[in-house]
Amino acid sequence: MRPLARRPSRARSGYAGRAPRNIFLNLLVYIPGLSEWAFMLEFSLSGEHTMKMNKRPLPISTICNWHDRIDERPDYQRPPAWTRSQKQLLIDSILREYDIPKMYWRALPAGQKFKYEVIDGQQRLRTIWEYKEGEFGLPKDADPINGFTVAGMKYGDLPLDLASDFDSYAVDVVIVDEAKQTDEEDEVRDMFLRLQNGTTLKAQEKRNAMPGAMRNLVKELGKHPFFQNCRFSAGRYTFDHVAAQTMLLELAGEATNIKDGDLNRMYEKNKTFDINGPKAKKVRRVYDFLLEAFPEKTPELERYNVITLYSLASLLLDRYVTDGVPEKLRTWFIAFEAERRGQDALPEEARDIQLSEYRRLTSQSTDSQESVRARLEMMERRFFEAYPDIEPRDPQRDYGYEQRLAIYRRDNGICQVRIKCAGEKVPWTNWHADHKIPHIKGGKTTVANGQVACSACNLSKGGTAPAVAAG
Ligand SMILES: [Zn+2]
Repeated sequence: MRPLARRPSRARSGYAGRAPRNIFLNLLVYIPGLSEWAFMLEFSLSGEHTMKMNKRPLPISTICNWHDRIDERPDYQRPPAWTRSQKQLLIDSILREYDIPKMYWRALPAGQKFKYEVIDGQQRLRTIWEYKEGEFGLPKDADPINGFTVAGMKYGDLPLDLASDFDSYAVDVVIVDEAKQTDEEDEVRDMFLRLQNGTTLKAQEKRNAMPGAMRNLVKELGKHPFFQNCRFSAGRYTFDHVAAQTMLLELAGEATNIKDGDLNRMYEKNKTFDINGPKAKKVRRVYDFLLEAFPEKTPELERYNVITLYSLASLLLDRYVTDGVPEKLRTWFIAFEAERRGQDALPEEARDIQLSEYRRLTSQSTDSQESVRARLEMMERRFFEAYPDIEPRDPQRDYGYEQRLAIYRRDNGICQVRIKCAGEKVPWTNWHADHKIPHIKGGKTTVANGQVACSACNLSKGGTAPAVAAG
């Protein structure tokens, strides 16, 4: 990302602070990609959209006068709350007349309580308001500005010259107009979430035009009824996009990058993918499980949450007894989201560090391997803390030779299941070692839990275990 440029025309004394410079770098880490963001927003608007954009330099005094008209918290924007030092750095940058990133506001239709809502720039806006209202001061070790001592100063303490520089500092605000907003579709919100990940609007559309088995499978998954219960809408292939991302996670078997380039490669490499093979079946099972967990519209199911929940559900289905688990997952997830969303209202020192970290992970680069992995680890840890009794399945799935021999001799080679037969004697070359308590329900792969089954009984029992013929 391009470093924030100093305003050349109004440059004054040099920026010599050492400590502030370090904080400055932290700020850049916190808001990555903002300059690209602006570019992409404009770029994507050149295509199919009807939105209008106007860039206006607004003095801070105006921004403060309009406080009551601006809704700084539309629900799609949940970046992590800034720390005190991040806030101080922003004010320091303004007072030294450095450029700060553009803000994006959406113009709301007339007759609403607010005139604008903030698409991007919520933290900066709040910081400006808070400083103006005297809620915090500059750092105790702040370097002088234009020869004035400013250490520890709140707005009301500033020398008049600096206070008036602050008031007249012009923030570039891009006003977005005439965007569609209905329950079904919200152009700005959709764009905001996509741009956070550097995803262009057309990427999934292009993939949907790539021929091959993977394209077909993803399109099928995108129609799974679970998606109807998510917060995001089907507009612009969002369902297909998320389905493709989860398919890639399933194929990888672990956290991996799920950006557009990675998805494109998956489509390319899997043109002849077996859409009835074990991986395809597994993905369908995970979505069925998620639908069982979330049988109705659930606003907490944001895109990044669905990806994390998919990974957690996939893991549960692979390794745990899942009877009753969908309900537990729903209960836990809704409580987790409530706690996470409540963090913002708490004072900084009372916040849960893990949850703050989760919010940071969901507000930037959510499609990177690191973010996918960290989110899954956190959800997994918290979910199992809440439900420590969820039972792992026996990692050994199939009976070994010695176990089979012991079961066969104990049962005298006679079918114990007796659903389809009356206790038939089955030859050593054609019998099945059946779990009395099915493996998927937590039954152990032990001789005590094993019994002889004939083919017909084994099949009619549900076919959980693949037939294990003696050899
Ligand atoms: Zn039988």
